[in-house]
Amino acid sequence: MATPHDDIAQGQALLHLTDVGMRYRARSGHVTALRGVDLEIAAGEFVALVGPSGCGKTTLLKIMAGLVQGFSGSVALAGRPVLRPSAQVGVVFQEPTLLPWRTVEQNILLPAELSGDDLDAHTERARALMKTVGLSGFENRYPQELSGGMRQRAGICRALLRDPRLLLMDEPFGALDAMTREFMNIELQRIWMGDSSAMRKTVVFVTHSIPEAVFLANRVVILSPRPARLAEVVTVDLPRPRRLADMATPQAADVLARVRSHFSHEGGLE
Ligand code: ADP
Ligand code: MG
Repeated sequence: MATPHDDIAQGQALLHLTDVGMRYRARSGHVTALRGVDLEIAAGEFVALVGPSGCGKTTLLKIMAGLVQGFSGSVALAGRPVLRPSAQVGVVFQEPTLLPWRTVEQNILLPAELSGDDLDAHTERARALMKTVGLSGFENRYPQELSGGMRQRAGICRALLRDPRLLLMDEPFGALDAMTREFMNIELQRIWMGDSSAMRKTVVFVTHSIPEAVFLANRVVILSPRPARLAEVVTVDLPRPRRLADMATPQAADVLARVRSHFSHEGGLE
């Protein structure tokens, strides 16, 4: 599905955050959302970002997406500063934000349409993506005819349409019921692993669910309460494909406990 971005090999640093900080100006004064965040993410990595509610996770993700102005420090993707949104970065938010008057396929094609790209080539790609995520047959349906999980799949297709090298996901399954959410975690792992390892996407996935983070990620980046700093980075060295039952193995329990213990020090995730 993906095409190789051949200037940076898998495993080499793709995204560099150096001393990233963000202060919002609010009516009541300033709110410091991030302070001194240094992080390097390698091509092909799946990184989960966890932290207490309101600590600055969405802010950090939006900075990576080029959607925030006025932050301090620097963010570089493949050596180039990230200053505005680009086709290199796809974003999936908690709400899929599909336009109700457009069909599923028309929604998925929107980014190509807005940037004036060749629609025929993108229609082909949209259909291939829909097949990958199990949406074939729903091309001409409207968002309101789909379940929550299916709408998020469409959102994932839209984010992947222009073959970004970085996929940012902000609590994408947070609004789904628990069973659909677990199913979507398995599906996301399948979609991510579906690309050959040489072409696998780099993913940054925000969640406040520790089990979801450990199930999906190669590394769990833990943010402190606001202003968010990097509190700890935990490597998840569990074999793939992972099954939900694997989360009960002693090896997984160790990782879960390590992430959790951190939050008991910090006073809880939520
Ligand atoms: P999280 O995603 O971890 O819940 P956010 O990044 O959304 O946290 O927010 C971090 C902090 O910054 C919060 O205190 C929030 O109220 C504040 N904040 C976020 N966006 C804005 C904004 N546009 N203006 C002012 N304050 C903001
Ligand atoms: Mg958020």
